[in-house]
Amino acid sequence: MQNIPVLFDIHTHSVASGHGSSDTITDMARAASDASLQILGISEHGPKTPGSAGSSYFRNLRLASRKRFGITVLYGAELNILNENGDVDLEDSLLCTLDYALIGMHHPLFSSGSASSNTDALIRSMKHPRVNFLAHPDDGRYPLDYERLLHEAAKRQVYPEINNASLTPDAYRTDGPQNIRHILSVCKAIRLPVLLSSDSHGKSHIGDMKHIFPLLHECDFPQSLILNTNPSLLLHILKKDND
Ligand SMILES: [Zn+2]
Ligand SMILES: [Zn+2]
Repeated sequence: MQNIPVLFDIHTHSVASGHGSSDTITDMARAASDASLQILGISEHGPKTPGSAGSSYFRNLRLASRKRFGITVLYGAELNILNENGDVDLEDSLLCTLDYALIGMHHPLFSSGSASSNTDALIRSMKHPRVNFLAHPDDGRYPLDYERLLHEAAKRQVYPEINNASLTPDAYRTDGPQNIRHILSVCKAIRLPVLLSSDSHGKSHIGDMKHIFPLLHECDFPQSLILNTNPSLLLHILKKDND
């Protein structure tokens, strides 16, 4: 399991997300190519995140280069869930122009409620176009009903992320390891594939999943359910709402 081939990383942030990294998309693509990835996805935070990209950034992504340094570059977003209705911070007409979106709960834009109401909000947010992935659903500050959430995700062809940054010693999210074990056990039982992500802010952690591998091994998680081993399956999934 330690040698699992990670061929893409699509939860990454460049300078456009703020947060102190000065690396551009070009810097990120060069680093992804050096790391032997086949696909890099840039997923800046939605416009409600302080200091992140505005609507005009996302609107202009359709003009951005999709081949850089020999790899494919996809352009998405990591959107904020804003309320229990599952509203997100980019309008649907603009979302349709992106390659994909992850949706997540972030402080202070989403006020955590009970596991039941948080789960309702996340399920409702799946209705938006291009929502393909659940960003770090491991955060103990936002408790979730994993059985209900992941069964609904499977019905809607939405996939949970296993986030390497949630497992680092200095992670600011809480309860990452135990919640990721729970997510992996449900996904294994219902055969729902997962997305491994670095959540790299800047180029330095692109493709770095090293904190995830021990948990995959511990849970005896099937490699066939790891999307990152199969770029053509990823591209097929991202086409689902184009068909
Ligand atoms: Zn996030
Ligand atoms: Zn992120």
